[in-house]
Amino acid sequence: MKDIKCMTLEEISSALREMGEPAFRAKQVFTWLHRGVTSFDEMSNLSKPLRAKLAGEFLITVPRVARCQRSQLDGTVKYLWELADGNCIESVLMRYHHGNTICISSQVGCRMGCAFCASTVAGRVRDLAASEMLDQVIFSQLDAGIPISNIVLMGIGEPLDNFDTVMRFLELVNHPDGLNIGMRHISLSTCGIVPMIDALAERNLQLTLSVSLHAPDSQTRSQIMPVNRAYDVDTLFAACHRYFKKTGRRISFEYAMIDGVNDSDAQADLIAKKIRGMPGHVNLIPLNDVVESPLKPSRRIDAFARRLESHGITATVRRSLGGDIDASCGQLRRKEMEEKKGADTL
Ligand code: SAH
Repeated sequence: MKDIKCMTLEEISSALREMGEPAFRAKQVFTWLHRGVTSFDEMSNLSKPLRAKLAGEFLITVPRVARCQRSQLDGTVKYLWELADGNCIESVLMRYHHGNTICISSQVGCRMGCAFCASTVAGRVRDLAASEMLDQVIFSQLDAGIPISNIVLMGIGEPLDNFDTVMRFLELVNHPDGLNIGMRHISLSTCGIVPMIDALAERNLQLTLSVSLHAPDSQTRSQIMPVNRAYDVDTLFAACHRYFKKTGRRISFEYAMIDGVNDSDAQADLIAKKIRGMPGHVNLIPLNDVVESPLKPSRRIDAFARRLESHGITATVRRSLGGDIDASCGQLRRKEMEEKKGADTL
């Protein structure tokens, strides 16, 4: 059966036309889906026979909350969703003054292999469908009972490794008859798959591109991010400059501060040098200690930020939310996998 939440309004329209239904029905169906109905029976403005017909041809995805952790400190909520095939993914709902933000996953696992990241430890299982990305927004909004205004594609997975589906998701989530979340309220984070950054530039979207830099020199970056062996730092920066030229959008560089690896003043100087020519912004992230990794958090974050600012580069330090829950993405899924493994061997 076909997953109807992956379909655009136009696609639903033509499917309904083939069933002999008027076009305006498509809009009703589309709106119901994006509101989070779990069956066609809930679509109360459709006739019963039409509901039955739709149920015979299409399925509606409904993820199950496998685990949910709520921070007592700042209201951050972390969801572990179980998908229809039993796989699990995570989303994190954060409350910022500029709006409630959901951090969503784009793949089950990840194959990029970054040394500090929990999501990639067991590799990639599969890509998510557009419906499964939408569901993270729809169902966390319903569960938390608060409106979500911002989305960051910074959860499990590499969004540009699932490019076509992520583009479809963006079109769906942006649609006025659905969730209607503006592109300027969406960020997409990539580890730096250069041809796909160029492909994204071609779309000329108003979203914010975040690039996970983590080191400005290829020697360091290749050690912690295998993607750098395919597209090195200079190739990546060239793509970033092209992206800015094409879209006019400022790029945000993510930089997880790792003790003794990427936190020297020389590295701050090099970042500034490579950003020069476009309005870059550096987001310094206190490294989340991942059990599987020997890398430790840096104690030089403020000094590093000042050094960047001395070159005229704006730097912010990411406020750590959900410190009392496993809020960095990939960790809750790892925990679940470990426990399942433990249970299997009993
Ligand atoms: N694959 C995409 C998006 C998912 S990761 C990307 O690489 O950008 C989201 C962000 O969290 C990335 O910047 C990633 O490098 C960072 N990250 C992963 N593990 C981390 C950790 N242990 N501590 C701090 N940041 C981490």
